[in-house]
Amino acid sequence: MDSTDFSSLDLSASLLKNLRSLGYEEMTTIQAQSLPHILAGKDVIGQGKTGSGKTAAFGLGILQKLDVKNFELQSLVLCPTRELADQVAKEIRRLARTIANIKVLTLCGGMPFGPQIGSLQHGTHIIVGTPGRIEDHLSKKTLNLGTVTTLVLDEADRMLDMGFQKSLDIILRKIPAKRQTLLFSATYPDQIQSMSKRIMLKPVLVQVNSTHPPMTTALLNNIFTKLPITKIA
Ligand code: ADP
Ligand code: MG
Repeated sequence: MDSTDFSSLDLSASLLKNLRSLGYEEMTTIQAQSLPHILAGKDVIGQGKTGSGKTAAFGLGILQKLDVKNFELQSLVLCPTRELADQVAKEIRRLARTIANIKVLTLCGGMPFGPQIGSLQHGTHIIVGTPGRIEDHLSKKTLNLGTVTTLVLDEADRMLDMGFQKSLDIILRKIPAKRQTLLFSATYPDQIQSMSKRIMLKPVLVQVNSTHPPMTTALLNNIFTKLPITKIA
């Protein structure tokens, strides 16, 4: 059984103190199961329903390894929509409020390019954005992902449902292969499994499913082909 006490983790004293002040008394299940692997630098796939606390799981991983004195971009978090990117950036800033001079920038569509380019020129530690806008900045050469050491795909199932696979492929080609990749998703369909095989290195799979065990398409097909067909008279 994993400990649910944040202080059992290898987290800095200032992050621990801030968690207490935010009222985070203990880890949620997905945090308790994923954070030890995330903090050990492993690639992690985290599957858990909405509200299970996935943002703090990857957020604390990013913040614990961040070097705030280094003004290079260190982490990229991709989210399916602007609303989700804004929520994630807000939660990361809350988790980071004891770290002086940390820069978290959101890069989403529907916003003008000018201020985003200005912010990029000033330097940022963490970018939270949507795949389309990140791809746009890459093609304009206003964003360099060559220094990224942590990539997070949040709500990966929704990003694929929304047709972002091509953008993700383009973005992934610009991030060094030597990196930590964290993938979070509410569901774990075949598409996610095959993508994780392509982009992750020996990922640890953490599934927190309070109701059902995961039902992949392959498993379902397997069950259906084995069911005897009974005719109802
Ligand atoms: P998910 O991404 O899994 O849907 P979130 O990361 O958005 O979930 O977290 C849901 C809510 O739970 C947020 O309001 C967050 O601040 C809160 N939360 C996360 N972890 C903890 C914790 N360990 N203790 C208390 N509240 C938490
Ligand atoms: Mg989330």
